[in-house]
Amino acid sequence: MDHLNPELRSENMRRIRAQDTKPEMTVRQVLFRLGLRYRLHAKELPGIPDIVFRKDKIAIFVHGCFWHQHSTCGAAKTPKSNVEYWQTKLGRNVLRDRKNEAKLKELGFRVLTVWECEARNEETLRAYLITKLKGLGKIGSLSRSD
Ligand SMILES: [Zn+2]
Repeated sequence: MDHLNPELRSENMRRIRAQDTKPEMTVRQVLFRLGLRYRLHAKELPGIPDIVFRKDKIAIFVHGCFWHQHSTCGAAKTPKSNVEYWQTKLGRNVLRDRKNEAKLKELGFRVLTVWECEARNEETLRAYLITKLKGLGKIGSLSRSD
């Protein structure tokens, strides 16, 4: 149990959140090679999204499978010791992610989460991002001539 108020606590969490992680770099590289330009770590937005397309109002989070508890992923298992501690801590992370996503949506953003395990293979990730961003209207066909 800590005694920080929610604002202070989320400030703390924000400060220790890892930036420029390997999966994040991979995502940035793939987007860059697709000819897309973006802003990084938009501090004024809820949860400080890793990558933002401001004009299109798209926010992308690149999440570690353990810390953010990727529900369909083997890497999300709770450690076997200090179970309660981890459940509380990780549960809090998940809740915070959900709140930030909801706040972003209220601001009119579409939110895309890329999991660490989805960023391991660059080719797969590229196909995934193209599909997602086409769905969001961010990119048209790849052979576009503009
Ligand atoms: Zn995962």
